[in-house]
Amino acid sequence: MRKAIANGEHCQILVKNYKKEGRLFWNELMISPVKDASGSITHYIGIQNDVTKRVRAELRLEEQRDQLDEKVRERTFNLEESESYLTAIVETIRESLVVLDSNFHILSVNQNFCDLFKESEQQILGKDLFKIGNCKWNIPELKEMLIKVLPHKNPIEGFEFQNDFDSIGQKMLVINARQMSLKGKYQERILLAIEDISERKAMEYRKEDFINIASHEMRTPLTSIKGNIQILEKIAEKNDHSAYIKGFNATNKSVARLERLIYDLLDVAKMQSGKVQFNFEQFSLKKLIEESIEIIKHESPTYRIVVSGLKEDYVEGDYGRLEQVMINLLSNAVKYSPESSEIHVHVSCLPEYCKVSVTDNGVGISKHDQVRIFERFYRAEDISAKFPGVGVGLYVCHQIVKEHNGTLWVESVEKKGSTFNFTIPIIQGIRADV
Ligand code: ADP
Repeated sequence: MRKAIANGEHCQILVKNYKKEGRLFWNELMISPVKDASGSITHYIGIQNDVTKRVRAELRLEEQRDQLDEKVRERTFNLEESESYLTAIVETIRESLVVLDSNFHILSVNQNFCDLFKESEQQILGKDLFKIGNCKWNIPELKEMLIKVLPHKNPIEGFEFQNDFDSIGQKMLVINARQMSLKGKYQERILLAIEDISERKAMEYRKEDFINIASHEMRTPLTSIKGNIQILEKIAEKNDHSAYIKGFNATNKSVARLERLIYDLLDVAKMQSGKVQFNFEQFSLKKLIEESIEIIKHESPTYRIVVSGLKEDYVEGDYGRLEQVMINLLSNAVKYSPESSEIHVHVSCLPEYCKVSVTDNGVGISKHDQVRIFERFYRAEDISAKFPGVGVGLYVCHQIVKEHNGTLWVESVEKKGSTFNFTIPIIQGIRADV
């Protein structure tokens, strides 16, 4: 102020001041020189205003601006952090990911996609999926399914296909695709997840080949052992050698068990790859049940198999396969009831289905195991050490019954016994008893 007065200039200052009683206030002072006609300063006019309210408002504004800046900084940091978190997830996922717009143009891809298909991100971004990689993605079946993803909200689930890509050759891929669950402008987007299962498939084929070869190798000598035993058994019977007959019976039992195990293992492999052939024919259920019982009786002569409800009902199915189911259920009933010697087989036919039930008074199955025993290689924990087996028989039976449009299920009480039931459609019009 002193300087302004010395220079004869206007000046405006803000003074932080205190009232007599000690209260702070902001004082705005303005001093302007007043000049006469010759231009000389005659006096000064001074105005002072209490601008405390205004200054306080300005200070508050400044403070809020600072807080806002801080919040923006914090948010930006959080966004950056969550973006790198999401990127890390996307890049860690084993699948190759592609985001498509509603015209199937590529909006983004993850590193796995670029690595797998040997594509550079810049080259494919914005391009039509069906045109990249020399149009090798232009697969009619895939296209047809992708077209339905957005309008019909129809996801693609586990679509497997084999393709010969220019950059990487033959690949077996599995594709899942669905509309991204986002709102607003991101709503019309498709997330495509591609998994390369070529290695896994090749391994499965190798495993299948191995099982085929191994079971063939085992079956050949087993068939000859079986034949030889049958010849020796006949000779022993003729000469009344009861001790030999007993020995042959026991051997027969083991051979039959081994043979069934080999067939079951072979079937597991075939069923997994959908290669099981079913030869459907019409036959008498009575014949099938009686023959199966005969086989089990021959193997386990000490067991009494009581049959009820058996009539001349005709069903349609694969005789050999259904006999396999019956034999499996009967031999399980024998195996898992070591302290009993009676098994019940009951047949009841409704207009559409025949139900066959095999009941034993054996060890039973816990509720927890009842829901799992039809899985491949599953065996109830508490019994697996006591009884031989590998846990494939019921899986095979389940698949066979399913192929016949029937159902296989179990009812069981631990330490009391089990009933395995299965149904098969009956052929209308050829029921001898109706
Ligand atoms: P495996 O008998 O070779 O183990 P299965 O697939 O035939 O294979 O049976 C799977 C499991 O179901 C068995 O391990 C056993 O725990 C249970 N199970 C099957 N049949 C019976 C039965 N009659 N009584 C008790 N448990 C049974």
